[in-house]
This record gives sequence, structure tokens and C-alpha cells, in this order.
Amino acid sequence: MANAGGALTRVRKVLFVSTVLNFEQIRLPPECDRLRKEVREFIAEEVAAGTFDPHNPRREDVDSREFSKRIGARGWIGMTWPKKYGGHERSFLERFVVTEEFRVANAPVRRHFTADRQSGPVLIKYANEKIKMDILPRICRGELCFAIGMSEPGSGSDLFAAKTKATKTNGGWLINGTKIWTSGAHLADYMLAIFRTSQPTKENRRHGLTQFLVDMRTPGIKCNPIEQLTGQRDFNEVVFTDAFMPDDHVLGEIDGAWKQATSELAYERSGPERFLETFYVLTELVRAAGRDPDVRAAEGVGRLVAQLHTMRRMSVSVAGMLHAGKEPVVEASIVKDIGTIWEQQLPHKARSLAAFLEPDSTNHPTLEKHLAFATTVAPKLTIQGGTTEILRGIIARGLGLR
Ligand SMILES: Cc1cc2nc3c(=O)[nH]c(=O)nc-3n(C[C@H](O)[C@H](O)[C@H](O)COP(=O)(O)OP(=O)(O)OC[C@H]3O[C@@H](n4cnc5c(N)ncnc54)[C@H](O)[C@@H]3O)c2cc1C
Repeated sequence: MANAGGALTRVRKVLFVSTVLNFEQIRLPPECDRLRKEVREFIAEEVAAGTFDPHNPRREDVDSREFSKRIGARGWIGMTWPKKYGGHERSFLERFVVTEEFRVANAPVRRHFTADRQSGPVLIKYANEKIKMDILPRICRGELCFAIGMSEPGSGSDLFAAKTKATKTNGGWLINGTKIWTSGAHLADYMLAIFRTSQPTKENRRHGLTQFLVDMRTPGIKCNPIEQLTGQRDFNEVVFTDAFMPDDHVLGEIDGAWKQATSELAYERSGPERFLETFYVLTELVRAAGRDPDVRAAEGVGRLVAQLHTMRRMSVSVAGMLHAGKEPVVEASIVKDIGTIWEQQLPHKARSLAAFLEPDSTNHPTLEKHLAFATTVAPKLTIQGGTTEILRGIIARGLGLR
């Protein structure tokens, strides 16, 4: 009987898997082609005007403040948000196209990207009306930069171990503690952060964290730079010393941030930026291989393109589900897991394929330069936005296997 019971559980799990995981067959509609053309024309004009170099994936030497405003003026920030907040009520699929085109062109969009991708949607759900009316239109105009304050020393994967404390005071909260690996905090106008407002309970170790909107100009906030392997200053340690947050900067339920942080991650994990970060290596490899490549180079490039095509279909599917108001957390985690491993391995695969190029890869200085840069970028790809192991845990739980 015990064996029969075990078999039944396994059958139930298999049935659960086949019903829970659902990549809907979604294709980009014709209006996306028109939009893509518009975005490409805009990018070509910006490149011609010298705003950025599409062949330079480092993207950091550009002051992109005005560029973000010009993108905002075209209506390409907050594309899916309500018009009353400055948004454009367009589809997630149209947003997908814009993200994809800017990413492939190596355009410097990071000033507005986090706000557009995930901070804005969180504010729409959880901020009060006054804050929404004040901040969301400015995000849409490309005027604001946001950072994400989740990780802390000793609390990365396990978000719910966060210790940075918010203590109630007159009219608000005093914040003390340290966030770490905070991308772009030194550029940010605002951060969405989780702080400890009370202790976890016996029944729920996730209890006791609250999400806040942090104005980065608040006295008592200091950003200390942390350098990447590439030498770039991307992220920071952010130290809070008695930094005051007004009551109306609490987002959602006090002590209930654990319910909010997970839906935010579906936005963070599934977009085309999650498999296109080293895409410039592929385009340069194709360029170096020329019109009549060696059969091994052709076969290798063919495989990479086929894999990319499949991931893109999956990512489009997630965008379509987000548009339909669903929260495809498992599907988004799968896209990030497969996508980040693909973009991480791309420089290594391209390096071995380059060996088949005639006469040898040293004749392709741009490819060499891109490979060297992508190799130093690669290690972070499977860590940021949730590590591979954590994503697989989420996928297993979502499928009923854990
Ligand atoms: C480039 C970059 C940008 C980032 N930007 C931000 C940002 O803007 N804001 C922010 O808040 N954070 C940011 N992070 C931090 C990132 O979210 C964390 O680094 C990540 O969540 C992992 O946490 P950790 O570094 O503390 O590693 P740990 O959680 O200590 O994990 C160490 C190792 O143990 C594994 N592990 C941990 N727990 C488990 C488990 N339960 N089961 C199996 N394996 C496990 C992990 O997979 C990993 O391999 C960024 C990180 C990088 C690399």
C-alpha cells in the first residue's frame, strides 16, 4: 500500500507539472513591426548624432540623462501604464520590442530602465495616489533613475533574512543598516527597498519586512562604490544612518513585503535583457565568419541562433501573459535560468568557434575585444536577479516537485 501511495503521489505530481507550466503560444502582432521600424529609425538617428556607439558594449562613457528624456518623449517609457500616470496603455508585447531593440543596439538605457521595468509597476500597485501622480509621470518622461535595495551583507538569496531596520518615529521611520550590490544607487533618485519593521514570527519567517520608497537625497544615506570585474562602477554598498522615511513612503502592507517582492521579480526575470546581455558577441562572430563560413562555424552559429530563437519565443510568451494580467513566476524563472546560462556561455562558445575562422581570430580585433569584455561580464549573469540555484528551487516548487 505504501508503494501504491508513493506511486499515486508521483502521478499527481506529473499531472500537476503538465497543468501548471504553461508557455502560451504568443506571437508579436503586426503593430509591433511598425513600432520596431520606428525604434530602429530613432536609434539610427541617435547613433548618427554621436549619442552612443552601438559597437561599444561598455556603454558607460555616455551621459544618458538627455537620451532617456528623448526616449520618454517618444512614449517608450511606462508604455503599459495607465495614461493618468503619464503611461501609454500599450501592450507588454510592444514594450518587449522596444526593450529588445535598445538592448541589441547597446543603447545606454540604464538611467530609466529599472524604473520602467519594475519600480513603476510596484508603485502603481502599492503607492498612494499622491506619490503615483508625482513620480510616475516623471519616470515616463525619462527624468528619474531607480535602484533596488533588497540584498544585504548576509542576506542575498535569502531576502527574508534582511536586517536593515526601520524604527517607528514621529511621522515616519528611521532607517539604520546596510544594503549591498545595489546597482546604480549612486545615480538613483529613488530606491525601492525592503527594511525590517518587526521580527519574524514562529509561523512565518518571512513576516516583518516592509517595502519603502526611498528618496536618495535623504540625509543619512551614503553610497560606497564597488567595482565590477570589468572595472566599471555599477553597484554599491548603501549605508543608512538614521535616514528618515515619511509614513506615506511605506509601500503596501507593513510587515507584508514578502507578498510584494515575489511578484516584482516576474518583471525582473523574463525580459529580453535576460538573454541579450552578451548578444554583441554573436553579431560580431557572424560578421567575422563572413558570407561563406567554414562548415563547423556555420553549424555552431546555427545552433546558437536556434537556441536564441527558442528563448525569445518563451520570453515573448511571458510578456503576453503579463499583458493578460497573469503572474507567470515559474515561466519567468525558466526564461531567466536558460537565458542567463546561454548568455554566460556565449563568449566561451564563440571563442572556440572563432578558431575555425580563416585565417585565425586575431584578424578580427573587434571580436577579440568583445570576447574579452563579455568574458569579464559573464560571471555576474547567473547571480543578478536571483541565482541559478534559487531559480531552480522556485521552478521546482512551482511545479509541485518540492
Ligand atoms: C551584477 C549584480 C547586480 C546586482 N544588483 C542588485 C541590486 O540592484 N539590488 C539588490 O538588492 N541586489 C543586487 N544584486 C545582488 C544579488 O541579488 C545577490 O548577489 C544574489 O541574490 C545572491 O545573493 P548573495 O550574493 O548573498 O549569495 P548567497 O545567497 O550567499 O549565495 C551563495 C551561493 O549559494 C547558493 N545558495 C544560496 N541559498 C541557496 C539555497 N537555498 N539552495 C541552493 N543554493 C543556494 C547560491 O545560488 C549561490 O551560488 C546584484 C548582484 C550582481 C552580481
